[in-house]
Amino acid sequence: MDCEPENTSPHDAASKQKRVAYVVSEDLVKVSDHRVLLKATPAYIRTRYHNSQVASLLPSNRFRSALVHQLVAAFARERPGWIRIIRPTAATAKDLLTYHDMEYVGFVLGDAPQASRFGVQGDLQDTRSISAELGLEDDCPPFKGLPAYVRMIAGASMTAARSLRDNESDVAICWDGGRHHARKSRASGFCYVADCVLAILVLKKINPRPKIMYIDLDLHFSDAVSEAFVSTSTSTQPTVLTLSIHHATRGFFPASELSGLTSVDTADPFTISVPLERGASAKSYAHIWESVEEVKAAFDPEYVVVQCGGDGLAGDPCAVFNWCIDVEEKGSMGWCVGRILEWKSKTLLLGGGGYNHTNTARAWAYLVSVATGDPLPVGTDIPDHRTFPQYQPSFTLDVPAGNMRDENTNEYLNEVKSTLNVLSARIRERLAANP
Ligand SMILES: [Zn+2]
Repeated sequence: MDCEPENTSPHDAASKQKRVAYVVSEDLVKVSDHRVLLKATPAYIRTRYHNSQVASLLPSNRFRSALVHQLVAAFARERPGWIRIIRPTAATAKDLLTYHDMEYVGFVLGDAPQASRFGVQGDLQDTRSISAELGLEDDCPPFKGLPAYVRMIAGASMTAARSLRDNESDVAICWDGGRHHARKSRASGFCYVADCVLAILVLKKINPRPKIMYIDLDLHFSDAVSEAFVSTSTSTQPTVLTLSIHHATRGFFPASELSGLTSVDTADPFTISVPLERGASAKSYAHIWESVEEVKAAFDPEYVVVQCGGDGLAGDPCAVFNWCIDVEEKGSMGWCVGRILEWKSKTLLLGGGGYNHTNTARAWAYLVSVATGDPLPVGTDIPDHRTFPQYQPSFTLDVPAGNMRDENTNEYLNEVKSTLNVLSARIRERLAANP
């Protein structure tokens, strides 16, 4: 693997501290947010930016990636050995083809003759119709630099997965990944590449085949990941279980037959969906979490992939959930991720949504500290660094809950719990029947 470990922390084998790998590179940040990087790394401007046509900005999250990495770097500067940085390898077309189909890969990489939007000459009308067919319109417009973006995001999540596979890390973090709406042959919901699925497939190929649990904490349902692994077969033992906790209601993105509360009679108890009502707070997550852990215990995964989308946090422009981050608050994002990190599985933490960029940066920097086993107090001051002024007015790490009313009733949350408990029993039965 073409990884370049830096700042390697002295790892004491006897220590309980998990080995945390953080995946980032200038190229990765560049394809998300080159303008911020222009200020941050002038050497890069000279050597790369002017030589490249990759002037790309991920349309849904302009400037977020650099904000996140700069905040993590600012904390890391004060804490030598805090994390180990891994430089990702860009995905090849062959890597992408482990999940995506040929036409989609050819088009987004600009190899297809119709891909004139990306600099290759072709018939514009033809290009438009193919773009629409591949979902490259509306919320997923083609943008200059898309080929590099797709290669880097997929490569970053796959690099993180390989770091776990090769036993180089116990926890791998890739905040640029988590694009859970991208499908095999179609972009969707700000997602151009199915890095979650590609990372799971890296782990799935390990011999003997491990069990992999995917947990999605984003505000939106993990439609593309859940649908990628849904199975109607009852005679085989699934090695991937997906569980998404999200908001779902008529007209709320994404539309999927699987986004409602999974029926206890489902043919596939390994594809689980838990919708929560508006205003979901730490209290609601705490109410159901024991049953989420029961699903984990029944499945007993060797690897856990967690999509940590930040759009359910209080203050997000989506304004649907009212989640907070403090590990001291039972059921918060930090608490849930902290619980997952206590499982014996190796863990891949991915990013996802999050449209209040400073709050998302706060949450993900905080989760890095949770992953080190020594969470920072949420009242910790934001370190002085280039994007410090953007953290006004609090200038602290915390993302506290707001005043939104939690519409999840105890009655509904108890229904969720009993559903998860029945599904857990069915998972145990299936695994026992198909060893
Ligand atoms: Zn989302």
